[in-house]
Amino acid sequence: SKGTLLVTGGAGYIGSHTVRHLLEQGEKVVVLDSLVFGHREALPLDRVTLVEGDMSDAALLDKLFTEHKPEAVLHFAAFAYVGESVTDPLKYYRNNLSASISVLEAMQRHGCKQFIFSSTCATYGNPVFVPMNEAHPQAPVNPYGASKWMLERVLRDCDHAWGLRSVFLRYFNASGSDPLGEIGEDHDPETHLIPRILMAATGEIPEINVFGTDYPTPDGTCIRDYIHVCDLASAHAKALDYLRGGGETTPVNLGTGRGFSVKEILQTAEAVTGKTLPVTYGPRRAGDPPELICDPAKARAVLGWEAQYKDPRAHLEHAWKWMTGPRQGKYKNAPVEAPAEAPAS
Ligand code: UDP
Repeated sequence: SKGTLLVTGGAGYIGSHTVRHLLEQGEKVVVLDSLVFGHREALPLDRVTLVEGDMSDAALLDKLFTEHKPEAVLHFAAFAYVGESVTDPLKYYRNNLSASISVLEAMQRHGCKQFIFSSTCATYGNPVFVPMNEAHPQAPVNPYGASKWMLERVLRDCDHAWGLRSVFLRYFNASGSDPLGEIGEDHDPETHLIPRILMAATGEIPEINVFGTDYPTPDGTCIRDYIHVCDLASAHAKALDYLRGGGETTPVNLGTGRGFSVKEILQTAEAVTGKTLPVTYGPRRAGDPPELICDPAKARAVLGWEAQYKDPRAHLEHAWKWMTGPRQGKYKNAPVEAPAEAPAS
């Protein structure tokens, strides 16, 4: 029978959608989350055990591994603000690299040897060709990308030394929410394009600023490969099947293979929300490459996975449901109860 899965960062955006998917697949899940950025409300606490704490806490990890004997670890827990990683690099190396090593040490102590790692296309740095496959040179241009890239290296070394098998899932631009919008993206601060566009649509922020209109792209704005968070979730389940089947350590890109410009996303958002968005056009944001597009061929060949939501219209529709639903895109908002039925007369 299938063993328990430890999901670090399972109360975060991508983690919580993956936990939901794993539970639907009949998996047993324990979440470890500090709740610094994660949200308790993102988890079905009647169906999943939440251990609240820091992943660098060896005593806590020993207790968790002794009690739950996880068969595999899905490692989402990390800080993910690229700009902040440039101004405060040690915060990123301490958490994303050093604290992750504490998790690996616990795995080694307890004989747990399967690991699914939330890596990123930011480990590649500026593209030298698109679409980008896993053989693209890795030259991260910020400490966030470097911290992920370094952990990939650590994981390869652990494989050689003690047989840890890992899949490095290199995500492109995660977006969307579960199709009903019951859970979703709730970052504070929010920096990502799609949620900020929708925040401009509700009036939560006054406008959306487009970072650069003079890129060497057809409409002058940056092109990205937007991967739906539920597609990311299903890819993790496939990666788990792969490891359970004896698969060896390997990187896998996760994207759709299609790119969309910032202007195209804005147009689609206007169609989905039915609103004219308050848009301003400003200078480029430091560190943004003109175009990031994934070559998803290996994900299909090795994991048997392919994105189901290839059109970002679905991402916007689902995220819009989350933004306009009972919680209005924020877990701190208690969901508004459905109106009570009128008493029978
Ligand atoms: N972007 C923008 N305005 C914003 C946020 C993002 O024009 O308020 C652009 C950004 O320059 C990039 C794309 O949207 O080209 C996606 O940015 P995001 O921060 O969502 O993801 P990233 O590609 O940086 O991981």
